[in-house]
Amino acid sequence: MFDHQKLVLCFLVGVMIMRSRFLFLSVAIFSSAVLLNACNSTSSKVLTSAPYDTVGTDQVRLANPSLLMDKLDSLKKGLLYFAPVDSINKIDPKVARNMLKDSIYRELKKKPKHIYLTFDDGPLLGSKAIDSIVTAKGVKSSVFLIGKHAKMSKKLTSSLQKYLDNPLVEAYNHSYTHANHRYQTFYADPTVAYTDFIRAQEDLGLKHKVARLPGRNIWMFGDVKRLDGRNGGTTAEMLHEDGFQIFGWDVEWRINGKTGESEQTVDMTYKAMKKFLDKNMGLYPNNVVLLMHDDMFQLPKAQKQLGALIDSLKQHPDYNFEFMTDYPKKY
Ligand SMILES: [Zn+2]
Repeated sequence: MFDHQKLVLCFLVGVMIMRSRFLFLSVAIFSSAVLLNACNSTSSKVLTSAPYDTVGTDQVRLANPSLLMDKLDSLKKGLLYFAPVDSINKIDPKVARNMLKDSIYRELKKKPKHIYLTFDDGPLLGSKAIDSIVTAKGVKSSVFLIGKHAKMSKKLTSSLQKYLDNPLVEAYNHSYTHANHRYQTFYADPTVAYTDFIRAQEDLGLKHKVARLPGRNIWMFGDVKRLDGRNGGTTAEMLHEDGFQIFGWDVEWRINGKTGESEQTVDMTYKAMKKFLDKNMGLYPNNVVLLMHDDMFQLPKAQKQLGALIDSLKQHPDYNFEFMTDYPKKY
């Protein structure tokens, strides 16, 4: 491209940014990002942290910024170009960046929110009640199962079958042995740990390649990778390379299964989830994953609390219940 053509392009981008506000600003910024290669030889200041000649795939994404969350992602990664203040552009790049971020969050607030109810360690006493409650309430739920639990009794084998047969429940992998609750040792040999998951996958007859690692809050799916500072990352990588999506959780609810006494009331748990959504605290805005355990719901006292929490969440007009295979719902 000739220099005068580059100058014309840069001038047009500058004019777009000056004239745009809020959402329109994002269009201009994305246009300018796409045109960066044309502009950066004539602009002395490039305010993006990423070298564009090494981020080919992101450039493709920037050329098709249809989703608010992808724009936000690019913004967080420093992939967007904000023109410096000069005689044409009067908006400080830092201000422009914050304006765009605020406008994206404002738009996302208007969109539906997505709740993922997840239950770990089943089948256990409590699983049958969970199956009945989520069916009665008509909400989607995700269960992360332990291979060896399904063989402990006929009752638990039958609870597993109920889960597998329920269209409102998706069953996923939480290992065969649950590391025998010795997590550090279990993950110290990733091949053994990986094999344990494969055994559970086959024994339980699971059709989804989705897993949660016992004792670890690790996320690994698509190009997302979030570890929790403890060992287990290599096991997660082996599973991920084998096609598994690995999910952790955002908010945990605890009830003592033996007494039915809750560590957090229904109201506290509801508010914790709402705060998580309202403050955009998750990996993705508008999505929150709640962790519970099957053995929490052995007693009627606790089962009533599960029903009450689901009722509270259902009353919110923006909240929808999803399976983990749909995580994240993006806008
Ligand atoms: Zn567990």
